[in-house]
Amino acid sequence: MEQQRKAVALISGGLDSMLAAKTVMEQGIHVEGLNFFTGFCVEGHTQAIRERRGPNAEKPKRNNALWVAEQLGIKLHIVDVIEEYKEVMLNPRHGYGQHLNPCLDCKVFMVRKAQAWGFMEQHGFDFVITGEVMGQRPKSQTKQTMPLIARESGVEDRLLRPLSAKVLTETLPEREGWVDRERLHGFHGRNRKPQIELAKKFGFTEWAQPSGGCCFLTNEHYSDKLKDLWQAQGKRDYELDDIMLLKVGRHLRPAPHFKLIIGREEGENQYLEGYRHQFICLRPVSHRGPLCIIDGDNLSAEDFAQAGRILGRYSQAADDEAFAFELTKPGGQGEVIHTTALPGPQIKPGWHV
Ligand code: SF4
Repeated sequence: MEQQRKAVALISGGLDSMLAAKTVMEQGIHVEGLNFFTGFCVEGHTQAIRERRGPNAEKPKRNNALWVAEQLGIKLHIVDVIEEYKEVMLNPRHGYGQHLNPCLDCKVFMVRKAQAWGFMEQHGFDFVITGEVMGQRPKSQTKQTMPLIARESGVEDRLLRPLSAKVLTETLPEREGWVDRERLHGFHGRNRKPQIELAKKFGFTEWAQPSGGCCFLTNEHYSDKLKDLWQAQGKRDYELDDIMLLKVGRHLRPAPHFKLIIGREEGENQYLEGYRHQFICLRPVSHRGPLCIIDGDNLSAEDFAQAGRILGRYSQAADDEAFAFELTKPGGQGEVIHTTALPGPQIKPGWHV
C-alpha cells in the first residue's frame, strides 16, 4: 500500500494559510498545523480582551489559528518561539518592511522551524506548506524572495505553496506525485478575488481578515511605541511583558524617565490589573476612571502629581476639578494623593507615544 504523506502547514489564522492547507488536504495528504507565538502575534490574547464596539461589535473574540484548525478538522501545534525570535526581530539580515516588521527574515525563520519540528523522526512530516501568494507582499512574497525563503531556511524543494505552485518551480511533493500539480493553484498579485472564490468553493462562509499582516510589527503606531521603548531604555531589546504592554492602553510619556499606560476600557483595565505587582499603579478614588501603570524609575513627588493630574484628565473629573487617586508601589501600601485633573488642552501631543 502506498504510504500516506504528511505535510506540516504554517497556520497564521488568516484565509490564505487556511486555503493552502485545505487544497493539500483535498489530495489525501495528512495535514497538521503549526503556529508560532512570537509575542507580537495579533492572535495573542490581548486581541481578545478589549470590549467590542461599533462595527466590530459582532466580531467574535477568538484565536483565529485555533479556529482555522477547527474549521479544517486538523491538529494545531502552538509553539512558543519568543526567545529565539528576538534575534530575528532585532537583527534582521534582510532589514525591515515599512515599519519594524522583519517579514523576510521572519518567514525564513518560521519555515526553518517548521522543517526542524516537522521532519523530526517522531513527527515524520514529508513537506512544509505555507499560504504565501506570489506578488502579494512587496518585499517578502516576490519572484526573488520566495525561492530565497526556501533556500535560506534549508527546506529547499520540500516547501510547497499550494496557492501559487503553478507559477513557481516544481517542488519535490509535485515531482514525486505526492500531490498533483494540476490541482494546485497559480494565484499571484494582490487581487484577493481568487482566494475568495476558492473559499466559497470549499464551503467556507467566514474567515479572519487581518489588516496588514499577521503581527503587530506591521502596525505603524505599534512600531513607534517599540522605538520609544528602546530609546527610553537606551538599548534595542525587549522582554515579553514589554511587547505585550505595547498592545494595551494609551501610552503617554510626559518626561523621558517615565511613561504612563492608561486603560482605554474595562477589558484593558482588567488586563493592566495583572501588572499591579510589577509596576507603580495609579487608581482614581474620587471619580470613576481607568487604571494607570507607570513604567519608569526614580520618579519624584512632582512626577507622581503630574501622572495623577493626567489620570484625572482621563477619568470623570472635569478640567481642574479636585481629583484624588491611590498610588501603590510594588509590594507597598496604597497612598491617597489629592490633586486636580489636567485640562484636556494641556495634554501635549508629543506625550502620546
Ligand atoms: S507580518 Fe509579522 S509574523 Fe507575518 S511575516 Fe511579517 S514579521 Fe512575520
